[in-house]
Amino acid sequence: MVDTDTAEQTRGYRRIACEEGVATRTLLEANARLGDIGLPLLTLDGPAAFLAERLIDHDARLAAMDRDGIDLQLLMVSAPGVQVFSPADASALAADVNDELAELCRSHPTRFAALAAVAPHDPLVAAAEVERAVRELGLRGAVVNSHTQGVYLDDPASFPLLEALEALEAPLYIHPREAPAPMRPFLAGPAVEGAVWEYAVEVGTHVLRMIGAGVLDRFPRLQIVVGHMGEGLPFWLPRIDNRYLASVHGPRRAELLPSEYIHRQVSITTSGMNFLEPLRLAIDVLGTGKVLYASDYPFEEQGAAVAAIEAMPLDEAQRRALFETNAARVFSL
Ligand code: MN
Repeated sequence: MVDTDTAEQTRGYRRIACEEGVATRTLLEANARLGDIGLPLLTLDGPAAFLAERLIDHDARLAAMDRDGIDLQLLMVSAPGVQVFSPADASALAADVNDELAELCRSHPTRFAALAAVAPHDPLVAAAEVERAVRELGLRGAVVNSHTQGVYLDDPASFPLLEALEALEAPLYIHPREAPAPMRPFLAGPAVEGAVWEYAVEVGTHVLRMIGAGVLDRFPRLQIVVGHMGEGLPFWLPRIDNRYLASVHGPRRAELLPSEYIHRQVSITTSGMNFLEPLRLAIDVLGTGKVLYASDYPFEEQGAAVAAIEAMPLDEAQRRALFETNAARVFSL
């Protein structure tokens, strides 16, 4: 095993991974009780039981981190998390997940930090829970696994949650999941569905819906993080502005251009996009300070990701920002 303390001293920076999947036994058992809802839910006896096991086996997680040279994982409950449950069940499960993650982080304070699970469809409870999770449990923000039963965070019903996050200066991570039911037939097929394309379309759409609805005018200090090298947004940014200005689809409700909100309020993580060209483009478009490393453990190979990025021709400032200092700033690590 790699001695990470020594390795960190040799490297001169910690490697922080910012989109790392986790579950609890309670949540996996609740998934099993939910039955068939037309979505692939992780359970301990389902077809992806090996992944479910990896999400709750923290000894194996620590061993993999030592082996792969990851100093700290920022944990977040894997998609779809609690958001497929009824509001009351989702809120109860979120609180339980948060208690368990806080306990894990307290046991390994230099190795783990976590984002709070929340139930966006129970917004007043979610606002109180995120406050409890950040203030009392020491969690570093909240994760939403994108839409909640077809509702996005541009819905004013969600505003109490966003208001709480902004007041706490706690970032919101928008993580992918399957598109809402009416969209799924159109985002189907082996070269489209899931992480191939569907997830990026879904999360990119989520961010642009919030921008277009003026949500980031209302919450100008809310910080949002998205994975997978920005879910396509950095690549599309000039065209999004350009066509937004030319759009005839109704009155504009936001004060600024879409790119201005993204520069002000959105950071991105690599999470599986260990490819030089998109990384360069993202750094060129958003700046060195907006791109954070993530492994997307256990869904992606963490060791291969570290090796690929460490082999890239980045300068020392970019490397340090990518692996450590951006994460330290955004998530207070
Ligand atoms: Mn992920």
